[in-house]
Amino acid sequence: MKALKELTRPNIWDLKPYSSVRDEYKGVEASVFLDANENPYNGPHNRYPDPMQRDLKAALAPIKKVAPENIFLGNGSDEAIDLVFRAFCEPAEDNVVAIDPTYGMYQVCADVNNVDYRKVLLNEDFQFSADQLLAVTDEHTKLIFLCSPNNPTGNNFLREEIEKVLNEFEGLVILDEAYNDFSDEPSFLTKLDKYPNLIVLQTFSKAWGCAAIRLGMAFASPEIIGLLSKIKYPYNVNQLTQKQAIEMLHRYYEVERWVETLIKERAYLEESFVALSCVEKIYPSDANFFLTKVSDAKAIYNYLVAKGIIVRNRNSIALCKDCLRVTVGTRVENDRLIEALQQYK
Ligand SMILES: *Cc1c(COP(=O)(O)O)cnc(C)c1O
Repeated sequence: MKALKELTRPNIWDLKPYSSVRDEYKGVEASVFLDANENPYNGPHNRYPDPMQRDLKAALAPIKKVAPENIFLGNGSDEAIDLVFRAFCEPAEDNVVAIDPTYGMYQVCADVNNVDYRKVLLNEDFQFSADQLLAVTDEHTKLIFLCSPNNPTGNNFLREEIEKVLNEFEGLVILDEAYNDFSDEPSFLTKLDKYPNLIVLQTFSKAWGCAAIRLGMAFASPEIIGLLSKIKYPYNVNQLTQKQAIEMLHRYYEVERWVETLIKERAYLEESFVALSCVEKIYPSDANFFLTKVSDAKAIYNYLVAKGIIVRNRNSIALCKDCLRVTVGTRVENDRLIEALQQYK
């Protein structure tokens, strides 16, 4: 890996962060807060939240088996995705490399930040070759985005290929593990020490059942986390979210039960789909959704919408012609989908 300073935009490296009121005093037990122009009434929502989310990180660290210094928390993983562009990619000069198809936000953030986004097509098994990815990098390639299990294809990537990219790429590798909870593959979180260029993304939006609270996690070296923390909005994770997330962390056993149920429901849906005449193929999934090739994605999508059932039409995405992406729901929801598709002519 190149030195972090060399990978970072000079203005960001030199940036002196905004110093929020709650950052400045430390180590004293204060009880009179007359420093932040808050209203003293209407507790507990009258006070600014902890900008560094210390309690939440302290609760999260042992569950993820990392140190609090390895954790960045943001307004969804989407915030972390945007921040890596802003920290490392000089607009109109640097570029990033990603697989295709994959999660759409990488390209959106690249476009917003005016950073060249280079796509490498997956093969027909939806796998990538490390050599092909590395071949399109140059001295201006700062980031490589990988998403495993990948959205929308649903599959895990081969571990050897991911590790090859981590070993051979000089820049940073963002590995999005939004769906890792549903997969048998171990997370790359245990490899943070081995790979200083690794940034792992996870989220509260999927297995943790908390999409509404907007909480994403990035895990990396303390140096990388320090850079992201320096450029984030001071109060990027609000008090209600921090509180709800801590509550969820105490109920992690429920998450385990949900995941177990959803994996069984995924198998149930897949089995039922095999018997449907409009279904041509079901792609194997390591996530809480699966991709399926149907006779006419647009027509079936519209047919389902008319019945009040919404799936994702991926027809216009690379390698996904006539494909729908189906999220696993409750048994009642899954049965409504199956029943509707049985009636489709
Ligand atoms: C859903 C999803 C996320 C989650 O984004 P949040 O902003 O945390 O809700 C991240 N990456 C991928 C690939 C996803 O599908």
